[in-house]
Amino acid sequence: MKLLVLFVFLATFSGRLAFSQSPSQWKAHDMTRPKPPIIKPADQKLPIPPPSDAIVLFDGRDLSQWRGEDGSASKWIVANGYMESVKGSGYIFTRQTFGDVQLHLEWVAPTPPMGKSQGRGNSGVFPMGLYEIQVLDSYQNETYADGQAAAVYGQYPPLVNASRPPGEWQSYDIVFRRPRFSRTGSLLQPARITVLHNGVLVQDKVEVWGPTNWLQHAPYTAHPDKLPLSLQDHGNPVRFRNIWLRELPEASEPGPVQTKAEPVVVLKTAQLDRFVGKYRREGESNEIYEIKRDGQKLVASFSGSVQVELVPSSEREFQLRWTAGKLVFNVGAEGTVTSFTFHLGGEERIAQRIP
Ligand code: MG
Repeated sequence: MKLLVLFVFLATFSGRLAFSQSPSQWKAHDMTRPKPPIIKPADQKLPIPPPSDAIVLFDGRDLSQWRGEDGSASKWIVANGYMESVKGSGYIFTRQTFGDVQLHLEWVAPTPPMGKSQGRGNSGVFPMGLYEIQVLDSYQNETYADGQAAAVYGQYPPLVNASRPPGEWQSYDIVFRRPRFSRTGSLLQPARITVLHNGVLVQDKVEVWGPTNWLQHAPYTAHPDKLPLSLQDHGNPVRFRNIWLRELPEASEPGPVQTKAEPVVVLKTAQLDRFVGKYRREGESNEIYEIKRDGQKLVASFSGSVQVELVPSSEREFQLRWTAGKLVFNVGAEGTVTSFTFHLGGEERIAQRIP
């Protein structure tokens, strides 16, 4: 009897555990999940041309950059500057592989509209072939919130429904950051997606739970840092044009991260006091700078109210604490301080000491 109770308890409890692992309070495709507010996007001048560092994946002429699922040439139609999904021809994949990207593309849903809900103008954009940003005719077309246009499919509804009517070209601008895995394959950081739909922010750096899926929640499994981008054949003749992307650096700013530490020099009170006084800027007789000592700190006051702490890097050279600038004091023949040179933003100011 006791065993049976334990068994029932475990079965119930483990079931709850599995359920509670859903990363959202909503189950996927819940029709009662609140729908994003509908807005009318402003007119956009399309196509938006690629910047000089972009890789153009489709310029309206051919599908040379794309292949079918099995590696063969894609069977999607190319005509009049667009490509069109062909029912039953399968997803298409870029021949090149990509990780972090800024992606631009334009798409249009068929007109007159055919079908309803997920059957109307359905396609999809899959960074790395795994994480779907939904393409759907969501203009006056009810479907579940996490499956409408610009949703991260099954996970995140868009913040607003910024859809244009079928037959009108629409734009997606997507910033995709790939997931990071450790060398042993564990997840260090999930994929992050930002989307602008027709120029309107609809996904704000959302953290993707794992590959998007129908009816399933698939956890992450470690994959390469670069994989092909793909577009979905969902049986609807959705058209795409002007597809380009920019590969993004891993770091959030250009160049290597600054790690060079500035030397730390400790000066005695008497050594600091020799700089204390008022200085007049050369060529600007009204501009008076003052150097004061506050305990063990030297402080410069520029234009009255701006007080800047000076950190010594040698006996007469001081760095600004928070800004990439420095003050170098000039010393006369008898060792007295006569002036300083203030270096900031590639410019120099000289200030003469007022006797
Ligand atoms: Mg789709």
